[in-house]
Amino acid sequence: MNEPNIGDTMVDDTVEGTAAGMAWLSAIPFFLVHLVPFLAFFVTITWQDWVLCAVLYVGRMFLITAGYHRYFAHRSYKMGRVPQFLTALGATTAAQKGPLWWAGHHRMHHRFTDTDRDIHSPRDGFWWSHVGWILSNRYKETDESAIRDFAAYPELRLLDKFNWVGPWVLGVVCLVIGGWGGLIIGFFLSTVLLWHGTFIVNSLAHVFGRRRFATPDTSRNSLFIALVTGGEGWHNNHHYLPASARQGLMWWEIDTTWYVLRALAALHIVSDVKRPPARLLTQSRLRDGAFDIGMFRSYWERAARLAGSATNGVSSLRASSSDAGSGPGADVGGDNGEPVVDSDGELGAGPRQALSGLIHRAMESADELASSTRRMRDGAVFSSRGTPTDDAPTG
Ligand SMILES: [Zn+2]
Ligand SMILES: [Zn+2]
Repeated sequence: MNEPNIGDTMVDDTVEGTAAGMAWLSAIPFFLVHLVPFLAFFVTITWQDWVLCAVLYVGRMFLITAGYHRYFAHRSYKMGRVPQFLTALGATTAAQKGPLWWAGHHRMHHRFTDTDRDIHSPRDGFWWSHVGWILSNRYKETDESAIRDFAAYPELRLLDKFNWVGPWVLGVVCLVIGGWGGLIIGFFLSTVLLWHGTFIVNSLAHVFGRRRFATPDTSRNSLFIALVTGGEGWHNNHHYLPASARQGLMWWEIDTTWYVLRALAALHIVSDVKRPPARLLTQSRLRDGAFDIGMFRSYWERAARLAGSATNGVSSLRASSSDAGSGPGADVGGDNGEPVVDSDGELGAGPRQALSGLIHRAMESADELASSTRRMRDGAVFSSRGTPTDDAPTG
């Protein structure tokens, strides 16, 4: 892999996380697949095709959420080697690459959420967090260093390498059992919906919804996203307690993946299903006055960017209008007798630069606070017994 130097400064980083990093040519098949469902206007579509579409959406969404996400990325429960392989094999049919690629990159998202090193934060643009990062050249390869535990299984490495086989086989099966309608609506439409259903957890769930816990990121809880993703919409809960197999923490927070996992545990197909001790559910709540470091950091970051770009604008303007040979660097610090407020009533370049510097310093302290919050959260230990309990050992 030839990454991941995703910018050393905030301003440079915004350039990294934009369409500039897109590999448009290799993204063409992705866009073409979106057009395939429109072929439905030229063939006969039966109700069975729609049933196939629904079954493949719900079934594969479960394999992605319970498999790629809650099992491979977060190890929130256990299963044997054969079910582990079958889960990964089934999930590859969703055309979201292999288990090691998916879970490895997702672990990086949790490690660096909404910072310069986050692979898909909406702070770098909604499009980038939704799908741009997948279509860019930067994250094409599997980073095995992030997922050494599962990369130790040769069968999983094989699935990761030949992850394209699953979708092709499923596509052919749909064609055989359902004809063109089965292929176009059953397979292609459900696959496209599945893509965006999964991707909104990375994009929308960091932008839209409410926050319950003071996490160092911008994650949100959303019923709508939970309904279309089998429970992944409780994303603020999830960033607060990533090791928990249960993401809908209240009785009314619908989390169908969790219900199925409980049933599978009762059947002894999975085991050691982790859930948080009750004590953690009543901590760090914004309602109780916990300081929202995640949003505090996000607001300051946006202010820093605005101040930074305003300062750059003034600097380049002054550089181009001046032949004194001093260049924009001479404006830095700017205390050369210029007025604080110019004739238009706007802040002068010097004070703007100073303001930008102050905001960047506020950002640095917010970053420190965020990473200490992150370290604290890493200490949380989970119980896998019965109901949420308070007697689990704490880290
Ligand atoms: Zn997230
Ligand atoms: Zn996660």
